[in-house]
Amino acid sequence: MAGKGIKTQDWAAFREEAQRMLEAALDQMQQAAERPWQPVPEDIDARYAVTAEAQGPQAAVDRIIRDVLPYHGGNTHPRFWGWVQGSGLATDLIASVAAAAVNANMGGRDHGANYMERAVVDWTRRKMGMPEGASGLLVTGTSQATVIAFQAARLRVMKDLRKRGQGGVRLTAYAGEGVHNATLKAVELLGIGSDNLRKVPLKDGQIDCAALAAMVAEDKAAGALPFLVVGTAGSVDLGLYDDLNALADAASELGLWLHVDGAFGAWTRIAAEPWRSLSDGIGRADSIALDFHKWMYVGYDCGMALLRNEDEHRAAFSARPSYLEGAERGLAGGEPWFCDYGIDLSRGNRALKIWTALETYGEAAFSEAITGNCALAAYMAAQVEAQPEMALGAPVVSNVCVFTARSDLAPEKQSEVNARVAQTLQESGEAVFSTTRSQGRVMLRAAITNHRSREADVAAAVAAVAREAAV
Ligand SMILES: *Cc1c(COP(=O)(O)O)cnc(C)c1O
Repeated sequence: MAGKGIKTQDWAAFREEAQRMLEAALDQMQQAAERPWQPVPEDIDARYAVTAEAQGPQAAVDRIIRDVLPYHGGNTHPRFWGWVQGSGLATDLIASVAAAAVNANMGGRDHGANYMERAVVDWTRRKMGMPEGASGLLVTGTSQATVIAFQAARLRVMKDLRKRGQGGVRLTAYAGEGVHNATLKAVELLGIGSDNLRKVPLKDGQIDCAALAAMVAEDKAAGALPFLVVGTAGSVDLGLYDDLNALADAASELGLWLHVDGAFGAWTRIAAEPWRSLSDGIGRADSIALDFHKWMYVGYDCGMALLRNEDEHRAAFSARPSYLEGAERGLAGGEPWFCDYGIDLSRGNRALKIWTALETYGEAAFSEAITGNCALAAYMAAQVEAQPEMALGAPVVSNVCVFTARSDLAPEKQSEVNARVAQTLQESGEAVFSTTRSQGRVMLRAAITNHRSREADVAAAVAAVAREAAV
């Protein structure tokens, strides 16, 4: 059966539907507090089954409003603190409409969006305190940024790697206990092997640099080639920070590439004290992986790899067969091309949503929101400590608060209660905590990377925990 073609038959009708969609999206954002997470309906697979029959824009918009908007992941709600998820910005609506209108491919060539990505990279570089000439690339997230950084780190010690592969060389990498899984995945994916990711014990919640030096010496003596140490700025479980200045000193003494996983925690760089100084020294890293989609609240997906040395960044990825050759003038100009700095050749426009957010709200608003999130985590800790049956699982260092709802019960019983309370409050739409293990028991965990949260939200959520934990 012949289709009607991929063309808009009636632009006036299409405009009307597109505007209806935009209005519904704006409502969704404006009313985020009244639209918590809810379980997906039983028949969701049937609702989403691809019929692939032309039904026109009105039917598509109807179905999106009815079947898509309500069943979101909850992270736009002011009482969502599960895992580490960003809250999404109203400006994302503006940026995504504009981005779709021109459909930029940011792998290269001479067009405006690439210049904007360079501007966003440069702003980020300055905030992180990396020197001029450092190099950056917007990517899906910290997971991808980590792979990119590690590949460049590996090339520093194995110049022929791209041609000859790693062969029998045993590279070893180092990270603190509690390092995010993204580091493990990158090490596995690059063929370094998880056995060669050595977990360094922590001292006062930070990598013990003396232990690091001892492990490096031991591995060298055993014939390995130590090449990389990963510092953490904001650990996923507890929001802890390595002493990045001490680590930068140690890395330089030991001849290691210093990579910082700053997925969310790097952004304490623009927070007020005492939180800002948690990430002191981050600008001394050889590479930083960070996200905009967590603690800069920008819509998914959006992260960045920042590398101190552009030559090393480029050397790891540049590859330009003849069909991609650049030119002095015309569309094939515009060097450097981003495809020479990462995995992807074709790339979407992530820069515009960052740029739109910063131009609309201003950097100061983000500084205040990030500072405010840390203050809220401290406030949550105070609320917890004011409840006779609750107790913190660990001191609150930045924006993560881990606690048990019933410290008066036996550990197994606490685990049961905390897990149940998390589920009940998710389903009731009152608040989203996730869980983690601390002190050998399941505890409630809030990672506050949410610009919509206020003290009243925290107070109400802790009260709801108390209520549920009492039954
Ligand atoms: C979320 C997170 C990652 C992974 O980042 P993605 O953007 O999800 O790929 C890595 N490290 C830490 C500390 C994180 O919180």
